[in-house]
Amino acid sequence: MSAVPLGMPAFPKAARDATRNPTLRRNLRHATRTIRGRRAAAVAELDDWAELRAAGAAVKDHTLRHLDRYLEQAEAAVRAAGGHVHWAADAAEANRIVAGLVRAAGETEVVKVKSMATQEIGLNEALAEAGITAYETDLAELIVQLGDDRPSHILVPAIHRNRGEIRDIFAGTMGEWGVPAPDGMTDEPRELAEAARLHLREKFLRAKVAVSGANFLVAETGTLVVVESEGNGRMCLTLPETLISVVGIEKVVPTWRDLEVFLQLLPRSSTAERMNPYTSTWTGTTDGDGPREFHLVLLDNGRTGVLADEVGRQTLRCIRCSACLNVCPVYERAGGHAYGSVYPGPIGAILTPQLRGTTSEIDASLPYASSLCGACYDVCPVAIDIPEVLVHLREKVAAQPGHPVERAALAAAAWVMSDPKRYTALQRTAVRTRALHPRKAALPGWAKAWGATRDLPAVPAESFRTWWQRRDTSGETP
Ligand code: SF4
Repeated sequence: MSAVPLGMPAFPKAARDATRNPTLRRNLRHATRTIRGRRAAAVAELDDWAELRAAGAAVKDHTLRHLDRYLEQAEAAVRAAGGHVHWAADAAEANRIVAGLVRAAGETEVVKVKSMATQEIGLNEALAEAGITAYETDLAELIVQLGDDRPSHILVPAIHRNRGEIRDIFAGTMGEWGVPAPDGMTDEPRELAEAARLHLREKFLRAKVAVSGANFLVAETGTLVVVESEGNGRMCLTLPETLISVVGIEKVVPTWRDLEVFLQLLPRSSTAERMNPYTSTWTGTTDGDGPREFHLVLLDNGRTGVLADEVGRQTLRCIRCSACLNVCPVYERAGGHAYGSVYPGPIGAILTPQLRGTTSEIDASLPYASSLCGACYDVCPVAIDIPEVLVHLREKVAAQPGHPVERAALAAAAWVMSDPKRYTALQRTAVRTRALHPRKAALPGWAKAWGATRDLPAVPAESFRTWWQRRDTSGETP
């Protein structure tokens, strides 16, 4: 994964700053509440949603278990259909491959259809260093690019912007990137969309090379699938002469029958639609139709490490629907930028530290960016137990150097609990001194604020074990 953004503070600090921005909070509250209400209604229409969800999880688990086989099958099918396949172990290699392909095509510009994988590897920045300009064509990505901003949501990267802000960005910067915004443009959605359409159309008609991601890769035929709502994907995928698709290795599904499950799960979970407005599929190249050259870059970038972790590997089931973001109380208040990665919200809190490791301050703080309320698990269409992975990652972070309080507390707990005599003695002491216990957890240093907002559980007058022994001897029944 690409590096942590320069100067990125830990999640608590970034979130604190974000919660002080009333405009941001208003934009987020309005957007997430609207989307999650619609999603709930769309999901409620299906009687077999639970079965569909279980099927999605099962297909993903099966594929991940046999990932090597399905990737090789997909590779052979893409080659047989006239495409080229490249394997990229990490972000640097993927960026090198893409820049080399663009140069080989003799071009210095590419159009892009929204792709999280290319954001993950920092492709735009790498291409810029190689003298190649990448133009985002997804409306929200365009807003982010023109505003010199960062995406803050998986599905709606400019969710933190309102109409007035978008109007100002378009009016101020569109001309620097190509066709300017029309004079007198207001913040009416129709006028904003028209400005974007005019601006992008010129790019589509000029571009010789396009870069895309993919939502799925069907192994049996080597077919790539992009689902989107604007039609920009279709323009990117069909008009240029060369198409380069950068795809994470976990995107593979074995068959078209399997794809059917996800084409039902994804739209209802993401945009609350029964089906996606645009579902584009392509297989290699076809004479006289679409790009003449097709390259598939299969990206690892930490995914095989995630796969090796028995608890964490369920993260790779993710189909990037963003439902977990829209229900998360932490995301709704903190916004996406606080997560310091292209993957915000609950999925970001478990995916980023697995892809990037937990050595930086921000990555080590991400597993704690959750109240563990479980709302993310309830809505996840592929049943990723996000709270389980969060706790698992917290254990890993706590085991790292630099967490002496957690380590000392866990070591003390292990010492007490590994010996029944010690455990009983501690219980007796706790019962005898219960009148002296403070109501709040009085913790030192950085943990002070955490303890000040939490009540300590009251110690009962008698422990369960003592009561059980007394019941044995007195014949008392529960
Ligand atoms: S973790 Fe689940 S709910 Fe969140 S984006 Fe991925 S598939 Fe959607």
